[in-house]
Amino acid sequence: MKLILLGAPGAGKGTVAKRLTAIDGSVQISTGDILRGAVKEGTELGKKAEAFMKAGDLVPDDLIMGIMEERLQQDDCQSGFLLDGFPRTIPQAEELKSLLTRINQTLDGAINLDVPRDVILDRLTTRRTCVDCGAIYNVKSMPPKVEGVCDKCGGKVVQRDDETEAAISNRLDVYNEKTSPLVNFYEKEGMLLSVTATSSDVVVDSIKGKLGI
Ligand code: ADP
Ligand code: ZN
Repeated sequence: MKLILLGAPGAGKGTVAKRLTAIDGSVQISTGDILRGAVKEGTELGKKAEAFMKAGDLVPDDLIMGIMEERLQQDDCQSGFLLDGFPRTIPQAEELKSLLTRINQTLDGAINLDVPRDVILDRLTTRRTCVDCGAIYNVKSMPPKVEGVCDKCGGKVVQRDDETEAAISNRLDVYNEKTSPLVNFYEKEGMLLSVTATSSDVVVDSIKGKLGI
């Protein structure tokens, strides 16, 4: 399947993406993970993106399109992909459309994870992430077995730089202003599949049902 996963920060895109791609073996492409990797490695891209990310602002569209143009043409994308955190603006969505036409790919749909704002706020402030493998934990509902240590890889589990209260509040504003219009965009394209839920089990089952997988 070739899918886009939409949803506010903290809607559970990463978790749902991992479970969906495990079903059909398609690749998860998370622009957030790619950017965090670049920052950690100190690459040119990372240096350009770092300040935007730390403040909870979007990284400029041209940098993101550069990443995606290259990524979507790699071999592992040819049979299926799930875009997690991209597109994030109407210009990115328009450019994705022409990029896909150019490289002869078609999308099967855009899934929107619709989660109430209070649930999102609570999740973001309690979320912790493994700096090495990106695994996601929650200090309240799903802590790692040993505090601060990743169950999967032994890496350090921390609160992300952009998960301070000020950055979270900015990310939600940015989402409302720049990203939420994509729900309408994909609805007009006839591709939207909206799922209202708060638990990832319910979300994954509901998506599986709707996609018939
Ligand atoms: P979340 O969905 O939880 O906000 P992500 O991991 O998807 O987090 O993204 C983290 C940060 O990376 C964003 O706040 C933004 O700065 C940057 N980013 C990720 N994807 C994009 C994108 N498609 N366009 C612009 N900036 C992006
Ligand atoms: Zn880990």
